[in-house]
Amino acid sequence: VTSAELQAAPAFGTDAQAGVGEIVVMKFGGTSVGDPERIKQVAERLVAARDRGARVVGVIAAMGQTTDQLLDLARQVSPRPDARELDMLLSVGERISCALVAMAVRDLGREAISLTGSQAGIITDTVHGQARIVEVRARRVRKALTDDYVVLVAGFQGMSEAKDITTLGKGGADTSAVALAASLGASACELYTDVDGVFSADPRVVPDARRLPSVSYDEMLDLAASGAGVLQLRSIEFARNHRVRLHVRSTLGEPGTWIVEEDESVAEAIISGVAHTTEALYRVQGPDPAELFTALANRQVSPDTIIQSGADTIVFSAPLEDRGVTAAALDALGATWSERDDLAKVSVVGAAMKGHPGIAARTFETLRGLGIEPHFISTSPIRIAFYVPEDDVERAVRGLHDTFELGATGERQDA
Ligand code: ADP
Ligand code: MG
Repeated sequence: VTSAELQAAPAFGTDAQAGVGEIVVMKFGGTSVGDPERIKQVAERLVAARDRGARVVGVIAAMGQTTDQLLDLARQVSPRPDARELDMLLSVGERISCALVAMAVRDLGREAISLTGSQAGIITDTVHGQARIVEVRARRVRKALTDDYVVLVAGFQGMSEAKDITTLGKGGADTSAVALAASLGASACELYTDVDGVFSADPRVVPDARRLPSVSYDEMLDLAASGAGVLQLRSIEFARNHRVRLHVRSTLGEPGTWIVEEDESVAEAIISGVAHTTEALYRVQGPDPAELFTALANRQVSPDTIIQSGADTIVFSAPLEDRGVTAAALDALGATWSERDDLAKVSVVGAAMKGHPGIAARTFETLRGLGIEPHFISTSPIRIAFYVPEDDVERAVRGLHDTFELGATGERQDA
């Protein structure tokens, strides 16, 4: 079972017919706006795009470690901060960066305006800390574009149907950008980050990981659901549902990675990448599956791997950050349960895997050769996933990356 559940396509029309010409949405991550110098460079990039003729929307993340610092501050005041107030606090980070970018754009001679998520019409549900965008009312953004402003929107935040400030969860600025691009009928959504694109594995773990020139929405969904944290999962669901072409790239001007329809991507490789993530694993006895997963869903916990193990035992995994609520849900059900956090999940992902029977064999031979024992193996047509002891995860990822010759120096495994 994969957590890449379909996000219902929110019913907002694109009003591209308003006639302001080509619109580009450019999102900048925390590193790209990490200090005053970089903020000025972001402004230059936005102005350059405007000078080339496009109308420009910049979606800006909080500077560097700002969000973590705010979170830390909250925890020093309150051990379990109230969710509404936490969102109020965290939304400040993007207001800062977004206003600073607007100032820098003005200094370069272009009109600019910064907008909070709510001013930009990002309407969400009421789930604080993990809100989902349900609608984008982009009238104000569109008007500002028509009036020749470069529009800066605070990423990662919106306003709920109850008119409270919400945040969209880790990586939420990606989804802000894609939702705006969809709503504005933008020609592309460019996501600037600290790596040159989507790689065959996390470049911090596998130094010779190879940049993928293009990936299909489905492959990217599986990579992201498997731990490739370069894009928020929901942003890809959104892009696929609204046919927004994504371009992940660095500010260094490298070619980056296009995330597009399968027939547009050059997916000639059997395996596109190896991803890994840490999750908590629960072994539960007592409640039946319907009861158990309803209780988790009611608390917004989204389980990933689910395995029936014996007559009355279910094993499932869930995000580490949801440990508190997961425990509360299991206790409320009166379940007998235990938790493990010493395993990490490794996934081998590739759209062409389904037609190639040897992939599983080579995967498990590689692990045997490394002396690593896989647990809780699961598959989809384009993914093989399993758990290994946390201490072995980097060795497993590098070993599989070598086996499938995914490295920049190796030959690619072509179909
Ligand atoms: P931003 O702040 O720009 O949103 P993130 O930290 O969210 O950036 O995402 C970029 C990071 O994602 C990279 O620094 C990299 O370590 C990590 N990452 C994990 N898997 C991959 C992958 N397959 N390809 C590229 N980056 C990856
Ligand atoms: Mg991110």
